[in-house]
Amino acid sequence: MDPTTREPPREEMAPGKHLPFAVWKSLNRLSTGVARWKTNLLKWGMSEDDDVMCSCGQLQDMSHLLVCLQLEEGCTHEDLILCNDKAIAAAVFLERCRMSRTRIVSK
Ligand SMILES: [Zn+2]
Repeated sequence: MDPTTREPPREEMAPGKHLPFAVWKSLNRLSTGVARWKTNLLKWGMSEDDDVMCSCGQLQDMSHLLVCLQLEEGCTHEDLILCNDKAIAAAVFLERCRMSRTRIVSK
């Protein structure tokens, strides 16, 4: 995909609207780069502690969430846009990570 090419604005739901809402939300957060992975939570002051490590032992940032060894297959940004099986697996994984966190501090 050519990064200089822009898609015209659309007034329709992002791909994946058939998925459970939590997974669809995670998929959209991943594709826009604002998902609640641990380095973002710490940056946004929403982390209860300074833990930024994934349960696999690697730093949990966006690039890691797309290739974490806990996923069956890695995922690319293009996969996220296409909403294919790899992207859905990454979104489910992110949602599972969110559910397993002890607590997010709201401000
Ligand atoms: Zn990991």
